[in-house]
Amino acid sequence: MDHSISTPNSITPILLILLGPPGSGKGTQAKRITQEFNLPHISTGDLLRSHISNNSSIGQKASKFMQQGLLVPDEIVMAMLFDRIAQDDCKKGFLLDGFPRTLEQAQQLAAYPFCSMAQLIVLSLEVPDEEIIERVTGRLTCQACGAIYHRRMLAPNAHNSCQACGGKLVTRNDDSVSIISERLKVYYAQTSPLIQYYDQLGVLTTFDGTQPPMAVYDELKKYLYNRLFSK
Ligand SMILES: [Zn+2]
Repeated sequence: MDHSISTPNSITPILLILLGPPGSGKGTQAKRITQEFNLPHISTGDLLRSHISNNSSIGQKASKFMQQGLLVPDEIVMAMLFDRIAQDDCKKGFLLDGFPRTLEQAQQLAAYPFCSMAQLIVLSLEVPDEEIIERVTGRLTCQACGAIYHRRMLAPNAHNSCQACGGKLVTRNDDSVSIISERLKVYYAQTSPLIQYYDQLGVLTTFDGTQPPMAVYDELKKYLYNRLFSK
C-alpha cells in the first residue's frame, strides 16, 4: 500500500461546518467540498425530509410539529443528527450543512464525543443582504425540467422559455423580497452568537461569497488543502 500521499482519511477526523445565509450558495459549495474530500454531506434539512418520507419514529415526531407550522424542537433535530453521525461512514469526518443554527445547538454538538477529538473547521460564506435579495428574487425556474436561471444571465428576450427544453420559466412564490428579508433577519439573529462563538474558539474562517461560485469554491478548496495536508 502506498502511504506517501496523505488523505484526510489518514489524520484526525474532521468536522467541517459550513455557515452562510440562505441564498449564499452554501449547498452547492457543500456538495463540491464533500466530493473533493470524500466526506459525507450531512444536511439536517435533507435528513429531516428523509425521516419523514420513511415514516421513522423521528420522522413521525417531527411531522407533528411541522403540521402545526411549528419548528421541529432541538431535541428531535439533535437525536436525528447524532443517529446519523454515529454511522460508520462518518468516522473519518463529515461536513454539516445547515447545522448548527443556534449557539445552543453548537454547544450540544461540541459535547458529542466525536467532536472533542475531531479537528473543527468552520467556514463562513459572507454575502451582503442586497446581493442575496438580488440573487433570490431574480431566480427563474423551468416548470418542465426544473432548470434554474437568473434574470441577470439571460438575454432580455429569453426570459420566458427554458434554454434546455423550451419549458415556461416562472418565479417561485417563496422568492419574494419580504420572505427572503425575513429569513435573513432570522438567520442573523440566530447565527451572530454562533459566529462569535466559533471566532472565539479560533476555528472560524470567512470567505467572500459574492464571487462566482467556482471562484468561491477554489478559495475554499485551497484553504482546506492547506489546513488538512500541510504540516
Ligand atoms: Zn426546461
